[in-house]
Amino acid sequence: MNIGIIGAGQLGRMLALAGYPLGQRFVFVDLDADAPGAQVGRIIPGRFDDPAALARLAEAVDLVTFDVENVPQAAAEAIAAKVPFFPPPAALGAGQDRLTEKALFAELGIPTAPHAAVDSQAGLEAAARQVGLPAILKTRRLGYDGRGQLRLQAAADLDGAFAALGGVPAILEGFVPFERELSLVAVRSRNGETACWPLAENTHEHGILRQTRAPWDDPQLQALAERHLRALLDRFDYVGVLTVEFFLLEGRLLANEMAPRVHNSGHWTIEGAVTSQFENHVRALLGLPLGSTAAVGHAGMVNFIGRLPALEDVLAIEGTHYHDYGKAARPNRKLGHCTVVRASAAERDEALRRLEALA
Ligand code: AMP
Repeated sequence: MNIGIIGAGQLGRMLALAGYPLGQRFVFVDLDADAPGAQVGRIIPGRFDDPAALARLAEAVDLVTFDVENVPQAAAEAIAAKVPFFPPPAALGAGQDRLTEKALFAELGIPTAPHAAVDSQAGLEAAARQVGLPAILKTRRLGYDGRGQLRLQAAADLDGAFAALGGVPAILEGFVPFERELSLVAVRSRNGETACWPLAENTHEHGILRQTRAPWDDPQLQALAERHLRALLDRFDYVGVLTVEFFLLEGRLLANEMAPRVHNSGHWTIEGAVTSQFENHVRALLGLPLGSTAAVGHAGMVNFIGRLPALEDVLAIEGTHYHDYGKAARPNRKLGHCTVVRASAAERDEALRRLEALA
């Protein structure tokens, strides 16, 4: 089969790398002819909402998926009218607006942080009275990796904050004093089969994922998170990989956001699980049997942000896997990652300490 991917970033590249052994071929749409996907497939040049480029993609392939979340839902629906498009455009749209996303979580009984819509400075002040401070003001749309966010500690911080965020529709979220951030990656195949990987624990720096450790072994939380993910998968008759990021607070899971795609916090599954999120996404698109999502040890993943450490230094740590996305270095840009898998959590954490010193 020929599989089309909108966006040729590292996620698209890793999807293609997982799909090639299964005999699949990949074509991307991306503005950047040197995007990571160009190393492993043909690129049709164009923006993610360029109707001509997307129409060319739909003609060239048997089905279409995406590695970026900002494909407009209408553009996705136009493709879905021509060729199978997964995950479903409705799920893509639901994750694009933080307010409707939270309404969806509420409808499905998935707890979130307290929040309120903000459409003006006066609205912000009312929202702060409702939600309380400290809080985080986030744009409703097009925010990621901590961009489009302002932390508001005290009443004085409210002054001018709505304009500072661009004067666009926003949401005020109560600050969650979380103990941990956990994420669950799940997959549903075209034939309805579902599977979830073990929970992963994530740490962020400046809003960007820095490190993941998995499995996070807590059977009760795992069951709870799986219940939430399955509710979402059912809701959309979902096909492909879906990720939800949670805050853990006093034994409760509060959903922060969902990503209707393979996710950075699931990169550990390439070497740390029987079947990776990338391979299972491809299997799901094709209606193939899903592979086991069981962990094969204790995995740790470190993102390389802004600069890549020397390959030889990383590989000198036994059992480390290096992923260089082939991107030009820029501050705050995810350029690559590495993964270690060890027999025990303590050994994994020791290797992570050495990797962190390099990253
Ligand atoms: P987001 O873009 O919503 O994923 O936010 C990026 C990161 O900011 C999260 O992974 C958290 O570390 C932090 N963060 C976001 N929202 C909240 C919140 N309501 N309370 C506390 N921390 C948050």
